[in-house]
Amino acid sequence: MRRMKMMRNLSTGLILTTLSWFLMLSKAEPSTQADGVPLHPWTFASLQKNESVQPLQDSPSLFDTFTKSEVDTALKAVKNGKAAGADGILPEFLKNLGVKGIAILKPGKAANDASNYRPVSLLSTVYNNNWYLTLNPNKTVAIALHLNNREANRRLELKIGDTPVANSECTRYLGIKIDRALTLKDHIEAMKKKLKTRNNIIAKQTGTSWGSNAEVLRTSTLALVYSVAEYCVPVWSRSAYCKKIDIELNKSMRIISGTVRTTQTQWLPVLSNIIPPELRRLMKAYQEVTKVMNNPELPLYNDIISHPQKRLKSRHPIWDLTFPKESIPEVWKNHWKHSGVQNSTLITDPMMRVLGFNLPRHLWTALNRARTNQGRSKSLLYKWGMTNSPLCACGAEQTIQHIIEECPNTKFNGGIARLHKAEEDAVTWINNLEFRL
Ligand SMILES: [Zn+2]
Repeated sequence: MRRMKMMRNLSTGLILTTLSWFLMLSKAEPSTQADGVPLHPWTFASLQKNESVQPLQDSPSLFDTFTKSEVDTALKAVKNGKAAGADGILPEFLKNLGVKGIAILKPGKAANDASNYRPVSLLSTVYNNNWYLTLNPNKTVAIALHLNNREANRRLELKIGDTPVANSECTRYLGIKIDRALTLKDHIEAMKKKLKTRNNIIAKQTGTSWGSNAEVLRTSTLALVYSVAEYCVPVWSRSAYCKKIDIELNKSMRIISGTVRTTQTQWLPVLSNIIPPELRRLMKAYQEVTKVMNNPELPLYNDIISHPQKRLKSRHPIWDLTFPKESIPEVWKNHWKHSGVQNSTLITDPMMRVLGFNLPRHLWTALNRARTNQGRSKSLLYKWGMTNSPLCACGAEQTIQHIIEECPNTKFNGGIARLHKAEEDAVTWINNLEFRL
């Protein structure tokens, strides 16, 4: 019991430490530089960050002076996507913390009595009385989760004081949209929309004559697209709608690698040098489960160890997952070996970055289209309805393979295996081609 209390104090302390940083940011007087230009408070804070974080009990005055509006302003000022502090708590987490509860009606009880509900999640430890934060009935919503479909549209008649609590079909908790059937469809669809706009931003950097190189595109994609695509991933990764996210991530990888839509999807992670989405998700789930299993103090520990029996066949809870014995790179290597994709023999270890990653955009694109055997050859252009004939000037059907290995006009000495190495002669060959691959 005492240990539990200690843990709780510790976690509250940690959350407060993070917040105290934000508050210090907003409270910090702009100090002045030598030339009289005021230093932005953010800079001030980043200078301070290197010093060791003081335990809260050593600085009670700092804590005492916080008011509700200060907390709110500080939270508002923190941008999303920032790194966590020493306590590992992300700003998004603090922003999403609020007074939210999920009530489950006990079987066979009347819906209009609050005591007939089983609360799933209630007040967060940060939002307690010390902070003068009170429950806002207008911002509180109720959602009824029911296994019986006939009861799906049941409205809960809850009140806080005299204010009735609104009912919601799908409520957001810690950034996850929770729907009645826990299919997470709404959450994934909203996320897909967000990814689409972010992919468009990345695609804007890819002109063939001036576009960024693969390195820049990869870094921007990881920061802009993958950060969204993997937020709270252990929660939704086993949803049946998860594939919708993969569609967008494949688009991102097609942008990085400059490949066309007909490219086999297994090639995309290899060329972009990003572990395949499903393996990344598995890795995150594994990290989450290991973290919980190493901390018997966590309330989640018991939920995983002595979990309830599965009632719906269609559900795949996190404790159902089986993790491979090999490391993720090994798993990927095996998948690749047995994938049977075109030209798969070019790559022995998919983890290794392919050559030519830093080449100018038009060379990099042509190289990848050659590797994947999918590009603007007459044969494919004909298939897409963009040209009248699939034939090459030499009379044979013009596939990418024909251009590189067979055609007397364009043949590359050493074929695809040598072209793959992206050496000087490969670059000259691509530059001398009369058309773009
Ligand atoms: Zn030809």
